[in-house]
Amino acid sequence: LADLGSRLRNALSSVESVSETEVQAMIKDICTALLESDVNVRLVAKLRDSIRNKIAQEIKKDTESAANKRKKLQKIVFDELCGLVDSHEEPPKPKKLNRAKTSNKPTRPGKKSVKKAADSHVIMFVGLQGAGKTTSCTKLAVYYKRRGFKVGLVCADTFRAGAFDQLKQNAIKSLIPFYGSYLETDPVKVASDGVKKFKEEMFDIIIVDTSGRHKQEQSLFDEMIQIGEAVQPTQTIMVLDAAIGQAAEGQAKAFKESANFGSIILTKLDGHAKGGGAISAVATTQTPIVFIGTGEHVGDFEVFKPTSFISKLLGIGDIQSLMEHVQSLNLQDDENHQKSIENFKEGKFTLKNFQTQMNNFLKMGPLTNIASMIPGMSNIMNQVGEEETSKKIKNMIYIMDSMTNAELESDGRIFVTEPERIIRVARGAGCTAVEVEMVLQQQRMMASMAGAAKNMNAAGGQAPGVG
Ligand code: GDP
Ligand code: MG
Repeated sequence: LADLGSRLRNALSSVESVSETEVQAMIKDICTALLESDVNVRLVAKLRDSIRNKIAQEIKKDTESAANKRKKLQKIVFDELCGLVDSHEEPPKPKKLNRAKTSNKPTRPGKKSVKKAADSHVIMFVGLQGAGKTTSCTKLAVYYKRRGFKVGLVCADTFRAGAFDQLKQNAIKSLIPFYGSYLETDPVKVASDGVKKFKEEMFDIIIVDTSGRHKQEQSLFDEMIQIGEAVQPTQTIMVLDAAIGQAAEGQAKAFKESANFGSIILTKLDGHAKGGGAISAVATTQTPIVFIGTGEHVGDFEVFKPTSFISKLLGIGDIQSLMEHVQSLNLQDDENHQKSIENFKEGKFTLKNFQTQMNNFLKMGPLTNIASMIPGMSNIMNQVGEEETSKKIKNMIYIMDSMTNAELESDGRIFVTEPERIIRVARGAGCTAVEVEMVLQQQRMMASMAGAAKNMNAAGGQAPGVG
C-alpha cells in the first residue's frame, strides 16, 4: 500500500495551475494507481466519474484562484477515496454486563445450582487458513481487555493440529482466559461448550476462533454454518489477508453468502501488499472494516477509520488515531497526560506535553505504527528503523529532562528569544545544539497540529479523538 500511497500523493501534488489537462492527467494517474493495486475496474470507473462530476460542479473554471481550486480538488479526491473504503455501516458495539445484578451467586447447600447464561457479546471469526484469524482474535481480545471488558477466547479449530496450542500460547502471553480441547474433535461441540462456560462466568465478550481451509470449500462453509447456529454470534468477523490481491473480492463474496459476516478485519497491511483487492472486497460486500492488522505482534492492531486510513495512505499525519492510541493505554491516572490532552483541546502544546507524550510512546509498543501517525516522524523511522528511532526518542526525552520547568511549561518560543538556553540544554544532555533544535522543531510541529485540530473543531469539522 505504501506504493499506492506515494503514487496517489504524486498524482495530487503534480497539479499546479489546475488546468483542464492537468486535472485529466491527475485523474488518469489516480485510476491507474488504483487499478494496479488490484482495485476492481468497475469501482475505479465509478470513482473516476464521480470525481469528474464533482469537479465540474464545485470548481468554477475562471473565477477561482489556483490555490483555492487545488484545495477543493484535493478534498474531492480525498472524499472519493474515503467513500471507496467506507461502507457507512456501524458494526455492533459490545456492552459491559451488569455483574452486580445477574452474577451467579453460590446457591444454598442442598439446592441445585442453576447457572444463568449471561447475554454476552459473542464474536465468531471466519476466514481462510493463514488469513490471520488466530492472531487477530488475540489482538481483538487485548484491545477490549484494555478497555475494561472481561474477554474470553474459544478455540473451535479442531481441524489444524497445533491450533489450540497456538491460541493458548497467545492467550497466556496476553493474560486472556481461554477455552479449548485436545481431545474433542467436533468443532461445534467445543465452540458451544466454550461459549456456555464463559457465559456462565459472566464474560462481556466471547471470541470464537474457527478453523480455515486452504481454499473455499463446502466442508468449511458447512462447519461455519453449524458453529454459527450453535453459538448464535452477535457479530461475525471475516479476516481477510490484504496481500491476496484480486482474489479478495471473490473470497469475501463466497464467505458473505455462507457465513454472512458483518465486519471485516484486514490483516498484513504492514507488508507491501497491494491492498486494492481488499478495498474492492469491502466495497462489493458493503461490509465495514473494523480493524486492521499491521504486524505480527499483539499491539499491531488499529481501529479502522476511512478518513484515517486514507490520510495515512496519502501521508497526512493522523492525530486522531494517535490520541486514541495514547488514551487506550490506561493513562487516565497520569496527571501529566491529562494535562496534555486538555492543552491539546485548547490548541496548545508545550514542551512539557511533548515530554509526556514521548515518554508515553515508549510504553506504546511498536514504534513504526505510532510514527506513521506523526508527520515528520515516519521519515525519521524510514531512514533508521525501529531500534534507532527508539534511541532517538530516548535522546529527545533526555534533552527535555535537561530543561527547566519554566522552559518545559513554555511553548518553546523562549528558546528563540534566548538562544543561549539551547547551548545550556545541549551541555546538560550531552548532545549537540542541533539535536536540541530538532526537539524544538518537532514540538512546534505538534503545537501547530494542536492549533489546526482546534480550528477544525471550531469550524464544526471532525473532532480529534480526545475527551
Ligand atoms: P489463521 O490460520 O487464519 O488463524 O492465521 P494465523 O493467525 O495463524 O496467522 C497466519 C500468519 O500470519 C502468522 O504467521 C501470523 O503471525 C501472520 N499474521 C497475522 N496477522 C498479521 C499482520 O497483520 N501482519 C503480519 N505481518 N503478519 C500477520
Ligand atoms: Mg488459526
